[in-house]
Amino acid sequence: MVRFGPSGNGDLFYEQGFKDSEQAPKWLQSLGLSAYEYSFTLGRFITPQKAEKMRLEAQKHNIKISVHAPYYINFCNLSEQSQENNVKYVLNSLRGVRAMGGDSCVVHVGSTMKLPREEAFTNLEKSFKDFLEVYHDQKLDGTHINPETMGKFSNIGTVDEILEICNWDKNIVPCFDFGHINCLTKGALKTKEDFVKIFEKGIDKIGFDKINNCHIHFSKIKYGEKGEIAHLTFEDDVFGPNYEPFLESIFDLKLNPTIISESKGTQPQDAKTMADYFKSLK
Ligand SMILES: [Zn+2]
Repeated sequence: MVRFGPSGNGDLFYEQGFKDSEQAPKWLQSLGLSAYEYSFTLGRFITPQKAEKMRLEAQKHNIKISVHAPYYINFCNLSEQSQENNVKYVLNSLRGVRAMGGDSCVVHVGSTMKLPREEAFTNLEKSFKDFLEVYHDQKLDGTHINPETMGKFSNIGTVDEILEICNWDKNIVPCFDFGHINCLTKGALKTKEDFVKIFEKGIDKIGFDKINNCHIHFSKIKYGEKGEIAHLTFEDDVFGPNYEPFLESIFDLKLNPTIISESKGTQPQDAKTMADYFKSLK
């Protein structure tokens, strides 16, 4: 089943008088949505009590919960302090999503820190594989780590890099952020085939199952020389990418991803626009 939902609550949630994320699952179901991404991006995690309430609400209203791990993770940095943080932030995020009844945890894997790209990636491989040993000791199997394709050249996270990382463990599944991919390729995502090509490359490199169950961020994003500048809404008609060819590629390939809107403020409405368009495809 393809699921659609917002990252966070969006402006409409608050405009309609809602205050707390625990109210989101019921509200999202009423909009015809079925996914929700909870943000730990600023390093604030969830209390066990609140997580249990989220879990019950999500279960009751058929909402699949994912989380976004803190931004302060950098597996390219080999300092002990950095790795201590990486491990703590990713494990806490995984425990948080599991407590809410979900399984997917999106991670920005790291910044090159002005190192040559290959050196940064070699560093990342070392610390990430060290992290995986700790991960497997924690009995968190069944949770997924979703490394995200990034929108700035200064970050590790091209499609090829993310696919390579996904080969390091069965529990690493990609998060394709097509807005980001479009930034790095200066607007190359235009036709259905442009999206199909990325999924087919993924199927070739990491197998059908991980692509079938991949996590997706979708929004239009403004870009410049260095890549990503700002998230936009579906109102934008300059930067793209457009959701229609993207959803047609998912439909044609019969994939079952979770698709999260990261539009600026209009995440729930834009997720619904995508859900409605996908339903109209035959
Ligand atoms: Zn992200």
